[in-house]
Amino acid sequence: MLIDLSAILRGEIRELPIDGEVFPDAAPDGIEYLPGARISGVVSGSAGLVTLTSRVTVPYRGECARCLDPVETVLEFDFDRTIVTEGTVSDDVLEEKADEYLVVKRGILEPDEAIIESIYLELPSRLLCSPDCRGLCPKCGKKMIGDECGCAPREIDPRWSKLKALLDEDDE
Ligand SMILES: [Zn+2]
Ligand SMILES: [Zn+2]
Repeated sequence: MLIDLSAILRGEIRELPIDGEVFPDAAPDGIEYLPGARISGVVSGSAGLVTLTSRVTVPYRGECARCLDPVETVLEFDFDRTIVTEGTVSDDVLEEKADEYLVVKRGILEPDEAIIESIYLELPSRLLCSPDCRGLCPKCGKKMIGDECGCAPREIDPRWSKLKALLDEDDE
């Protein structure tokens, strides 16, 4: 995505709405990006300060860390940056504060790389089909959400239930 900011940098306009498609490439293991990732927001300029305020939405698919059911969901996060012209902020600072600045080169902003990096960082490390998902019952193999599946109540750490289910299968 190329965004022409020359008018805003010259102070001719104060706001420029942004809405475009994003194409995240390498997904972490177990994650598949679905089509339709977008960034939408606005670039605002006033008194020499140019900022991008936006929201990134990324539909994706993965599996529940507890019950292994497929999960389709949408990652959403704020993507806000101060826009600086090339050469005004040192490379060291840019590298250190990659989540604060975006560099505009010859009036053109190309935010894709920074957005894609943010998507990677914002993805949850554990995806759950429901916050209440407790994995599979080690006795009957049914998914347990909230209350027990109907088997005798017992306290089982959900992290172990999948493994226990596998072991129980082996016993039979
Ligand atoms: Zn689940
Ligand atoms: Zn059960």
